[in-house]
Amino acid sequence: MSTLVMKFGGTSVGNAAAFLQVEEIISQQARDWDQVVAVVSAMSGVTDELTRGVVSAVSGDAETYHAVCNMLRERHTDIVNRLVRKADTRERLISAIDAQIDEYSSLCSSVHVLGEFTPRVMDSVVARGERLSARILAALLHQEGTRSEAVEATDLIVTDATFQNAVPIAQATRNRISARLVPLLAEGVLPVVAGFIAATQDGLTTTLGRGGSDYTAAIMGDALDADSVWIFTDVDGVMTADPRIVPDARVIPVISYTEVGELAYFGAKVLHPRTIRPVIERGIPLWVKNTFAPQTTGTRIVRNSTNTHGTVKAVTVINDLSMITVAGRGMIGVPGIAGRTFSAVARQGTSVLMISQSSSEQSICFVIPTTSAGAVVYTLEEEMASELARRDIDRIWAIDDIVIVTAIGAGMRGTPGISARIFGALGQAGINVIAIAQGSSECSISLAVDAAAAAAAVHQIHKEVIL
Ligand code: ASP
Ligand code: MG
Repeated sequence: MSTLVMKFGGTSVGNAAAFLQVEEIISQQARDWDQVVAVVSAMSGVTDELTRGVVSAVSGDAETYHAVCNMLRERHTDIVNRLVRKADTRERLISAIDAQIDEYSSLCSSVHVLGEFTPRVMDSVVARGERLSARILAALLHQEGTRSEAVEATDLIVTDATFQNAVPIAQATRNRISARLVPLLAEGVLPVVAGFIAATQDGLTTTLGRGGSDYTAAIMGDALDADSVWIFTDVDGVMTADPRIVPDARVIPVISYTEVGELAYFGAKVLHPRTIRPVIERGIPLWVKNTFAPQTTGTRIVRNSTNTHGTVKAVTVINDLSMITVAGRGMIGVPGIAGRTFSAVARQGTSVLMISQSSSEQSICFVIPTTSAGAVVYTLEEEMASELARRDIDRIWAIDDIVIVTAIGAGMRGTPGISARIFGALGQAGINVIAIAQGSSECSISLAVDAAAAAAAVHQIHKEVIL
């Protein structure tokens, strides 16, 4: 018995042509596999629009969410009108669209009156886009001859009550999937599951965090003990660099879970590593593929990478950062300065992307988003007021227009000379490195450079170290 789980992201169902393409891919695989489950995201931009409408309503704006309602109604209705041939199916789908949008509108109107909302309300607001795309896709599959049914994800995935970022409860979820999905599959029905959405034990709607449809697919793969999970997106797979920066970026054929983790963290938003853990831990083959070029192989993600000795696989960049430095000779050998520095940054609500301190202990520097730089310097000056007064710390300052360039590859581990090649590549182009950090996992090396040199740094590393 072979089982395949396929997940389609927002751009894969972004318009009528994309829906047709997805229908074709699924129908074709349905002939080759005994059991296929499809997981689908909301149409591209829909989750953002739903969020924008409700956020504007809470801040007193009664116009925006009406505009959002009209736009979403039109976009979904248009797809149905274009793609669905049978009048009764069309009517059923259009009334489902109307029901979802009307409910959204009244939720926004309550939020507008109340002037506040909770994460719980937010989840019931945003968990609509996926419901609609799942229904439309199931109807389309059915029309083209694949027996298919949209299944409410709230019936399948049981989570805790961390609204907006809920954590699935594995056993309860498995039980639901066995009770609800397995019989459907046994009857030869192809279930289309709305990604992103789940529910608490008591049936309150939750969501799995932004990008959560990947998580839904991984949960299905795990619970059904699938033979393969395919994540369809709008690029050919995980790339060696952002093709908008490096035109000759290539698809990486095989990448490990750890490497993809570094990538995702450093801004290549292909997959969130947390979301695919269930399939990776079970050793289920996971592929990233392109909806618009389904014949290309894509990228395979494996638990441990083998045969990568000495190789750097990808280079990424994160923009809009600032580097904060805390410096002073009175810090040398004094325990607790780093602890207090980072506690103060955490209290201020800022997440640190990169940290570096040399062994002379005369300065600590770290990189944060520029939007928080002013507040972080202020908080640190308060925290270190007495050290500053005593001149144990001389100065705390921010340098803006910083980017972090990261080279990723498990093959760096224990391989001498990789950093020499990276620095050599930058040196050749006259690019100055402001700070360096490498974790002891040796899976990536991060460099802070001036924003003006970002593209050149990525090009150089791609050219000299990756290609
Ligand atoms: N629609 C949700 C989002 O935009 C979930 C997903 O697409 O994975 O975050
Ligand atoms: Mg995604």
